[in-house]
Amino acid sequence: MTVDVTAEVTSVVAIDGPGGSGKSTVARLVADETGLAYLDTGAMYRAITFGVLARNVDPTDWPAVAEVLPLIVLDMAHDIVIVDGTDATAAIRGAEVTSHVSSVAANPAVRADLARLQQQWISQRGGGVLEGRDIGTVVAPQAAVKIFLTASTRERARRRATETGADIDEIEADLIRRDEADSRREMSPLRPADDSVHIDTTGLTIEQVAAQIVALAKERIHA
Ligand code: C5P
Repeated sequence: MTVDVTAEVTSVVAIDGPGGSGKSTVARLVADETGLAYLDTGAMYRAITFGVLARNVDPTDWPAVAEVLPLIVLDMAHDIVIVDGTDATAAIRGAEVTSHVSSVAANPAVRADLARLQQQWISQRGGGVLEGRDIGTVVAPQAAVKIFLTASTRERARRRATETGADIDEIEADLIRRDEADSRREMSPLRPADDSVHIDTTGLTIEQVAAQIVALAKERIHA
């Protein structure tokens, strides 16, 4: 099925950036304040990774992953992630999924499938706030607002350590590894869209960042 992405994506706020840059918290706040629906596309890549691992498929074996992909059933609503009937909400944030998600996300078959689902999600709602790595560049290039969030690696690791209680140095090493893998992959690498607004969130509160984005959204979408 092809989805006409040009017709309806203008009411999209695309928030891209590396892990720990504050995307999720900011995107949720922006969605609350604008009344737009919210989609965490990273959770979709994590959920597919969970489904791949649950089938004992090697996440780096692209053809094998492409083969099982149509069998994986995702159900994401109200912050609960169900994969093949199992509640995977906590597991998709765990170390095992986190260490394999970049390989699965680099797989062109997975990217094509998830981008299509994300575009359908936008069409069904006429817009929304989506956070990820390639929203402004690939999924919704016509988004009215494109944001690229960054923060220093140490600051990003500090935030994740506060959230999860894990060791900050290990988190930092993992963030660096994933940033590299996500930026180097051939298909839809992590990179800012040419027309994106860059916000360095180091030293800013979530509310300050969200306020900047909401102001842009109100100007460009609700005007
Ligand atoms: O945002 P989060 O850290 O949950 O994303 C997990 C992984 O999913 C990223 O490291 C990246 O490999 C992948 N991802 C992606 N494209 C997106 C969102 C996430 O490749 N739009």
